[in-house]
Amino acid sequence: MTEDTRKDTAGSSAQPPLPRWAFGGPWGSLFLTVALPVIVFYLWVCLIDHEGRLFWPATGEAWKALLSRIPLPTLQAVLLYGGWLVMQALFQVFLPGKIEEGTPLHDGTRLKYRMNGLLSYALSLAVAVGLVYAGVIRPTVFYDQFGPLLATATIFTFFYSVYLHWHGRRHGKNERVYNNLLHDFFMGASLNPRSGAFDHKLFCEARPGLILWVLGNFSIAAKQVELYGTLTVPMVLVCLFHFWYITDYYLHEPAILTTWDIKHENFGYMLAFGDLVWVPFTYVFQAVYLATHTHDLSWWAATGIVLLNLAGFVIFRGANIQKHRFKKDPGRPVWGKPAEVIRTARGTPILASGFWGLARHINYMGDLMMALAWSLPCLFGAVVPYFYPIYFTILLVLRERRDNRMCRHKYGADWDEYSRRVPYRIVPWLY
Ligand code: NDP
Repeated sequence: MTEDTRKDTAGSSAQPPLPRWAFGGPWGSLFLTVALPVIVFYLWVCLIDHEGRLFWPATGEAWKALLSRIPLPTLQAVLLYGGWLVMQALFQVFLPGKIEEGTPLHDGTRLKYRMNGLLSYALSLAVAVGLVYAGVIRPTVFYDQFGPLLATATIFTFFYSVYLHWHGRRHGKNERVYNNLLHDFFMGASLNPRSGAFDHKLFCEARPGLILWVLGNFSIAAKQVELYGTLTVPMVLVCLFHFWYITDYYLHEPAILTTWDIKHENFGYMLAFGDLVWVPFTYVFQAVYLATHTHDLSWWAATGIVLLNLAGFVIFRGANIQKHRFKKDPGRPVWGKPAEVIRTARGTPILASGFWGLARHINYMGDLMMALAWSLPCLFGAVVPYFYPIYFTILLVLRERRDNRMCRHKYGADWDEYSRRVPYRIVPWLY
């Protein structure tokens, strides 16, 4: 047993079953490995060249124009992105933070994680502000270097995933491995790749991409000021919503340890690309659109959007923290009453009251309400600013089905009992 693991057989969780293939197997994996970067690039071109509308390059000229937009890394982008990753990794390894244990692994051990995200976040923002004030970088650098940064992050992620695959095959415990090169590269060859004290999955899930998303927004807002001399209400709303979402994440960082990605998903290209490219470069699309669309919002529209975001946040955060606390202490009251608990043959109880008595994934509903609130400030002139809520709805609907299947397998008749008591999947009384 290594220093950072501990045996804990009580409540030890079996790995969910491994389906024959996920995402269409090896060929689906190969397709997605290529398609995901192409999608990000295409949507970005829609934003910067086509007013946020989808387009099809019907002529040779149009294809030429599209291909000429393919970005390449620049020295500045490589230095910025490389420096960013190194700084975040150093923060994760060396900054102080409370040590939390993950949920039991299939062999009964628990990994230890240092929860220093809030400090990393605060220091990262301080460093970025300091560099701007010192004149080392321009505030608009993320917007100006978007293409080269995207290219750098994409290339890095590909080679990093090759490394993860090698690392997983060499040091992993063969968790959920398909023994197929293409599929294991995409899905990941180990659950918790670590290099010494450095946890690759927690790092990528929780640090460089999330913080870059916030800083990227601020940089794009600075571009709006540079271009038009004004900061519009829609831009302020989008920046504040995202800033609050990420700040809240860090305020409750240990809750990540009970999420699906950390507990069950191997760490390969799929998650690495999501964490390092998809999140920081597509989640800023609303801001990219607003940088050159300076419309205003009426006070009632702004108030409605803020209320939608707030309601979504209360449901999202309330549900996630309620489950997290329940996992730690199932005897704890829920909404001031004794928790309704389904005792299970597997050992880990199911919460059937509070948020989790309204729908089996009501946390997804809160997240989706916020997703919509983040796009509404862009109004209705283009579809790409709505990319996030559209893609996120598909993702969460599929994810709920996948999780439901896994839970049925894990809990058997006890999950059926929960589904009988709480029949709604995501939206109470509707779905
Ligand atoms: P959940 O946090 O809902 O975790 C699902 C797991 O929780 C189940 O497998 C089960 O695992 C346990 N569980 C489910 N219901 C109950 C219950 N009633 N009582 C006790 N345990 C239960 O899902 P995710 O990890 O997918 O999502 C976490 C959050 O992250 C969500 O709010 C989601 O919206 C958000 N998210 C955001 C993304 C983004 O890109 N912005 C992407 C994906 C998710 P077990 O019993 O084994 O503990």
